[in-house]
Amino acid sequence: MKDLHSFGWYAARISPHLPKKAFKPVPTRLWGGLAYLLVVVAGFLTIGLFSFNPFLYLGIAFIIGTSFAAMGFLGHEILHGTVVRKAWLRDLLGAIAFWPLTTGPMLWRKWHNLTHHVHTQNDEKDPDAWPTLEKWKRSRFLRWIYKLPHSFRAFSSFALLTLMFTAHSTKCFVMYIKEFNPKNQPKVWMQLILPWVTWIGLLFIMGPLKWLFAFFIPLLIANAIVMGYISTNHRLNPMTEVNDPLANSLTVTVPKWVDVLHFNFSYHTEHHIFPGMSSKYYPLVKEHIKKVWPELYHEMPMSKALVALWKTPRIYYQGSELIDPHQGHLYGSLGNGLDVANIQYRKEQLTENDEILTKALKNGKNV
Ligand SMILES: [Zn+2]
Ligand SMILES: [Zn+2]
Repeated sequence: MKDLHSFGWYAARISPHLPKKAFKPVPTRLWGGLAYLLVVVAGFLTIGLFSFNPFLYLGIAFIIGTSFAAMGFLGHEILHGTVVRKAWLRDLLGAIAFWPLTTGPMLWRKWHNLTHHVHTQNDEKDPDAWPTLEKWKRSRFLRWIYKLPHSFRAFSSFALLTLMFTAHSTKCFVMYIKEFNPKNQPKVWMQLILPWVTWIGLLFIMGPLKWLFAFFIPLLIANAIVMGYISTNHRLNPMTEVNDPLANSLTVTVPKWVDVLHFNFSYHTEHHIFPGMSSKYYPLVKEHIKKVWPELYHEMPMSKALVALWKTPRIYYQGSELIDPHQGHLYGSLGNGLDVANIQYRKEQLTENDEILTKALKNGKNV
């Protein structure tokens, strides 16, 4: 068993090698946000005021959608406090950045900062973690899903990425609203309702056809882009007893210009070590990790990570493997036998009985 360390352990060892400015907020990130906001407003006005061929609308919808996604990446950064430090301004700017994705700043900080970052890949506590075999057994819905052929499941789950951020955000709202102090609950409600009032208001102003291109299609595009990253963040990694970002997170690589457009959101392992640092400095953190812990660090092109996601099931078996329960196929996870260039599984005759799986695991985890 490898030694696992908390994110604080890594942060303490990397920090002395970073410049002091890396620990300061970077308000200039807001210029990027303003540019996206102007693009979105220009897109709304163009669709709202002029009548064009629907194909041209589709092009504008694509630009609005990519801007919605990029605003979400900036919102993530803002709400970690790495852009401005004042709490009220952080929440206001974060709310604006997340307006299109309709996620309020208070909910986001509870779900993401206080839960996902603190309990990453903990099957009970991390709202973003995927289920274990035990959960599969208890859930009729999951059992039904896993009876469907793998290719159909993979296709559907990729198609559903176009809705998944909004759906998961709504689920987190329902999950967490009661945990807020009753005094704060109306605020959390307002942060959900106000964006939707705006978007439904836009529907009445523009009419349904134009609204489809100005908001609904861009929302699907933004969901797909944001979830394209989020789905690669941890889902190929094992669940770990210690919240060790090198073991339980993955950094993907994208062309440099995409990193510029997406505020370096691809550096997820670095982000879990330094969530309070502007992502502007993550390339420096990466350099240091690769120098000191090259064998523990997981990094791959985003396209490869997506292909690996397509080919593997999403049910965890004993934390370090992924299982397709009906087929009895067992796959490794990153650092535990998963080779993304050559994805293999061990075939086991699976019954409802766990003994067979346990026996398989005793024979050696990696194939
Ligand atoms: Zn994460
Ligand atoms: Zn974060």
